[in-house]
Amino acid sequence: MAYSFSETQKIRLSELGVKKEVREQEFEEKQAAGKSYQKIEKEAVTENKRRIRTLLYETRQPKLCRLQNDLADCLIGHGFTQVATPTILSRKFLERMTIDGTHPLNDQVFWLDQKTCLRPMLAPNLYDVSKRLMNFSKLPLRVFEIGSCFRKESEGRQHLKEFTMLNLVEWGTPIEERNERLKEFSKIVLNAAGIKDFKVEEEESVVYGKGIDIVSPDGLELASTSMGPHPLDDAWNVTCSWVGVGFGLERLLMYREKEEGIHRYSRSLAFLDGARLNIK
Ligand code: ATP
Ligand code: MG
Repeated sequence: MAYSFSETQKIRLSELGVKKEVREQEFEEKQAAGKSYQKIEKEAVTENKRRIRTLLYETRQPKLCRLQNDLADCLIGHGFTQVATPTILSRKFLERMTIDGTHPLNDQVFWLDQKTCLRPMLAPNLYDVSKRLMNFSKLPLRVFEIGSCFRKESEGRQHLKEFTMLNLVEWGTPIEERNERLKEFSKIVLNAAGIKDFKVEEEESVVYGKGIDIVSPDGLELASTSMGPHPLDDAWNVTCSWVGVGFGLERLLMYREKEEGIHRYSRSLAFLDGARLNIK
């Protein structure tokens, strides 16, 4: 007969970041399973403590915050201008993205009241601010924002209700250069995030229609791209061609840090910078 860890033990090990193949191993004797659990649990607690101490005494900044800063510095170095827009979004702006009562994304929106919600994406504000900036700038104009977005998700290892989006846009990209530019910008961001290995896939977006996605070799979506001229442009009085890419920063970390789940590096009270917090 084979013995494995109990469900409670497996959950505990999972919370401590012990990998699946270790959690799922089997033993010939019950006693061996018990002994092994204690050893693995102890080592995992030590590793989590080490991570918290590293944060407190060395890095002093979670990888999520570091990534935000590194990506911002990198994009500014490539001629992008950073903007900071409100997290609270008007219904009017959402509707201009064609997200009305019948749209699939509508069910994922956190409404605050009749007229406002928590932004599920950065695009509407970026359209609005960029259009205004065009009064002061020649094309091409490069703009980006990094900030929290909110979606009601049925949770899971790749989805958060609150996640950090990096959305960059280049307005005025020559039409024939759009595909190349999307790949170039994606590479710049992934490089700055310490990610070298990725694939480019065609994908259907519920907001933009056909576009390309950036995915990890094992199929985790890291970013979605879009381009214009696009039917949505009219609502924002945008007439130039453009390209845009939206990355989820926690997805980048999950992939780079080889984590099974997204929560360990997300905004959380249970985890901080890859470590479980409720250990002593
Ligand atoms: P998915 O299909 O994985 O649910 P999506 O296509 O709905 O994602 P987009 O609207 O394309 O997501 O958002 C751009 C990027 O933001 C995604 O590629 C992903 O990296 C990230 N992202 C989207 N939703 C979430 C979420 N709930 N939690 C964490 N990251 C997310
Ligand atoms: Mg997508």
